[in-house]
Amino acid sequence: MSESFTRAAAIKLADNGARALSAPQRLTVLGATGSIGLSTLDLVSREPERFKVVALTAQSNAENLAKLAIAHRADIAVIGDERCLDDLKSYLAGTGIEAGAGEAALIEAAARPADCTMAAIVGAAGLKPTFAAARQGRRVALANKECLVSAGDVFLAAIRASGAELLPVDSEHSAALQSLAGAERVAVERIVLTASGGPFRSWPLEKLREARPEEALKHPNWSMGAKITIDSATLMNKGLELIEAYHLFPVGVDQLDAVIHPQSVVHCLVHYIDGSVIAQLGPPDMRTPIALALNWPERRVTPTARLDLVTIGSLTFEPVDEVRFRGPAIAKAALARGGSAPAILNAANEVAVAAFLGGRLGFLDIARTVERSLEAAETRGLIRATESLDDVLAADADGRELARHTIETQN
Ligand code: NAD
Ligand code: MG
Repeated sequence: MSESFTRAAAIKLADNGARALSAPQRLTVLGATGSIGLSTLDLVSREPERFKVVALTAQSNAENLAKLAIAHRADIAVIGDERCLDDLKSYLAGTGIEAGAGEAALIEAAARPADCTMAAIVGAAGLKPTFAAARQGRRVALANKECLVSAGDVFLAAIRASGAELLPVDSEHSAALQSLAGAERVAVERIVLTASGGPFRSWPLEKLREARPEEALKHPNWSMGAKITIDSATLMNKGLELIEAYHLFPVGVDQLDAVIHPQSVVHCLVHYIDGSVIAQLGPPDMRTPIALALNWPERRVTPTARLDLVTIGSLTFEPVDEVRFRGPAIAKAALARGGSAPAILNAANEVAVAAFLGGRLGFLDIARTVERSLEAAETRGLIRATESLDDVLAADADGRELARHTIETQN
């Protein structure tokens, strides 16, 4: 594939059959207790002979982590919060499963030989372990979009250097991968990601000002972790995904768009230069894209509900209202600005979402905080080239500091 549709070998397309499974695949799940982690392990439990679980990790829920490690006979379980190590050890006592804790242990677990790593830690906290997984030169199934947003080029360079395969787990990007099959990059005109519009799709601006965390956490279609659910309500999730798509596929910023599609049935539309549009459809269940990322290029039976378009009746589409939902526009501007701007955006968004969930920030102030943090970064000359993971982590720290300052002083 000379001019492949994937950005310069970011995704090394396995030749069909190349990965036909003879032995169990060694699998590590980073973020095993989360929504994506549990969906992944649900699939694993249905075909236990296909997988050998190496490492499972979580941040603070030692009991759930231990249960998963025991159920899946993992070699090692690692908890991010070192204060939980004693609990983890006691839950694992007598099982022969190793226990570890802290950032270094997370990284070490991610570096243990595995054929596939599900990178499903939420947020920039996933950067170092996901990089460690990428350096193995095997397969990275990437759910942690923040990694591509903050570290895009640096992460892809690590993938290329090790010869790893990068498979998107995000449903829209899995959809794009499928809709681009066989395409020459010159034939691709536009990639359009769909967004459900979240729980506030039809709320007027005045009402949005008063939106509460418990209302924002009620996603109409998808069941996901808290951070991405809030990102879906602000549509910053779509902004992050536009940046993610830019890094995964060979399109410019101006060839990427988002459209509201409340039914969450069509996940992505690829427009071709001849007027054809190829889209991927599926039920809103992450086990479909997870199964594809784990088994690519093979398709496996999943237990997801089958799509019944007759019952659904109609599929509708609306433009993104950029006044009420600033996320996609802010993200596109940060992507166009380049350098550390997307890392600062991501970090500021993480801080703002946490403040909103903690009742310290209004709903509309999430996007405002991100926008102001980026403006402040520009004014202070903090938007710089990011050439290494350390540069990205420094930009992430800047973004957090700017957002905290913005929240304290301006909102
Ligand atoms: P979640 O909050 O349900 O789970 C996050 C996991 O990461 C948990 O296992 C948690 O223990 C762990 N974790 C949290 N903070 C950590 C830290 N500081 N250090 C180490 N581990 C930590 O999140 P999720 O919804 O499963 O999302 C995970 C990732 O997948 C996110 O990047 C999200 O954007 C992406 N994603 C999720 C979905 C979805 O449907 N849930 C869809 C597409 C992409
Ligand atoms: Mg998505």
